[in-house]
Amino acid sequence: MRGILTYHSVDPSGSAISISEHELRQHIRFFASRRVQIVPLEWLHKVPADRDALAITFDDGFQNFADLAWPLLEHNDLPVTLFVPTERLGGRNDWGGTKHKGIPELPLMSWETVAKLVEHGLTLGSHSRTHPHLETLDDARLERELAGSAEDIEKRTGARPKALCYPFGTFDERCVAVAKKHYEVAVTTELAALPDAPDLHRLPRLDAYYWRGDGLERWGTGSFRRRIAFRALARRVRATLGR
Ligand SMILES: [Zn+2]
Repeated sequence: MRGILTYHSVDPSGSAISISEHELRQHIRFFASRRVQIVPLEWLHKVPADRDALAITFDDGFQNFADLAWPLLEHNDLPVTLFVPTERLGGRNDWGGTKHKGIPELPLMSWETVAKLVEHGLTLGSHSRTHPHLETLDDARLERELAGSAEDIEKRTGARPKALCYPFGTFDERCVAVAKKHYEVAVTTELAALPDAPDLHRLPRLDAYYWRGDGLERWGTGSFRRRIAFRALARRVRATLGR
């Protein structure tokens, strides 16, 4: 089974975007055992579909990534893609939708910190410039968010990002068309393993939050796949009831 793991924040709040430091260390131990191949995000779809492989992604650029996650990832030589909203760095994740879901508002890294990690081997991806709902933007602003954030990253680090992460996981056909112009791959918040022939600009992911504890150890097994299906169904039911 191939899949992309999503992390956001390493903090003790227990929120839907959070994983504790202890839980992260459990995951890192599993990655470091190399029982499953760990590959850079943009390579994952090239790994044969019958292999067990995963890619690690972190969204938003929280300061706690630099403090807690990066040292462990670097020490164990684990590839990771960090998706940053390029004009929000240095601020906080105050882009709405946080209060009623119990999601903590926390500081994001500065560009200076991000650039330092890139020198040490971190790969950046784009999470747009300002973390908007992309599908609500007019064409000109959409282009600025997607092309502009790639330019920002290239200007700051010398490397053009290959991957995009749609903010809030919301997008429409128009967004996908613009993403295709500027990025090799784009990731969503659809909860699924990688299909055999994935659409490279709608790659599904798996929230690490659902596999806290030693849940990742069963990667690729029947029980692991059933947990994905169950979580995806529960999410659809919640979305329907919430409407
Ligand atoms: Zn985000």
